[in-house]
Amino acid sequence: MPIIIDGKKTSEEIKNEIAARVLEIKAEGGKIPHLAAVLVGDDGASQTYVGAKVKACELVGFTSTLVRLNDDVSEEELLRKVEEINEDPDIDGLIVQLPLPDHLSVEKVTSKIKPEKDVDGFTPANVGRMALNWPTYVSATPYGIVELLKRYQIPTSGKHCVVIGRSHIVGSPMSILMARNGNPGNCTVTLTHSRTQNLPEIAKTADILIVALGKPGFVTADMVKEGAVVIDVGIHRIADATKKSGFRLVGDVKFDEVAAKASAITPVPGGVGPMTIASLLYNTLLAAEKKVYGAEQ
Ligand code: NAD
Repeated sequence: MPIIIDGKKTSEEIKNEIAARVLEIKAEGGKIPHLAAVLVGDDGASQTYVGAKVKACELVGFTSTLVRLNDDVSEEELLRKVEEINEDPDIDGLIVQLPLPDHLSVEKVTSKIKPEKDVDGFTPANVGRMALNWPTYVSATPYGIVELLKRYQIPTSGKHCVVIGRSHIVGSPMSILMARNGNPGNCTVTLTHSRTQNLPEIAKTADILIVALGKPGFVTADMVKEGAVVIDVGIHRIADATKKSGFRLVGDVKFDEVAAKASAITPVPGGVGPMTIASLLYNTLLAAEKKVYGAEQ
């Protein structure tokens, strides 16, 4: 049986650690971390995600502010709002929930966020700092994966890590983080994508396989080396009449057959997914304590 890397349990541990730190901050008379979330429009999934983030803030003792804007808000007005939050001394972290309606430029809005408050880690400044191995806010999903590897003491140094998928939010940053001089890190990394030839052969050489391509059950047992560590980032709803909800969640990896070969594996649900909110809270705590950009800023 492989080790099942439990993201739900780990995220609870992280949230408890953060809550304990907030109690210390309160006792010291320090500044309570404050996260502002901007939500444009009334997309159901986005409302659920933002709602969960705000709720998580409450649970660990943070202050939170939810700014709701209509889906026909002008880009100018949204940028003004971001600017206003940038300049609000009480707010430590700012996130703008994505996706945005088509008339709004994600690039423009993201680059408007002050890097010091960019707890999603999406601004060019913070992505650059990550690539340079400087203190930064690592974005939620990559941070969650790194933290799982660390807390499960998965050896990474000198290992071959194959990443499937090169998105800006998962695959590309994971390839950088796994190659960095650090722990986890120090891997020899192969970043694969839709144009990669012989993907199954390459995947089979991985000691650590990180899968983020967004295709249900893409990775099968014949693509995985005996004893590999498999991190499944994919998340998909599959119709299932036997479930009350009418669906079940699956990943990019065929869990049962791959688990039979892996030494450790993340399940879906309950693997990488639950880590994302813990990551956001962690980054907000770093922002409030000025651990990334330093107290002088
Ligand atoms: P994306 O669609 O932005 O990128 C997919 C990447 O996979 C692309 O780089 C593409 O080149 C590559 N790809 C597509 N088909 C391929 C193929 N046949 N072979 C090799 N590479 C291929 O995806 P994303 O935003 O990185 O998300 C990937 C999956 O992870 C999705 O299922 C998404 O829902 C999920 N996700 C989960 C979390 C979480 O918290 N668990 C967070 C982000 C994304």
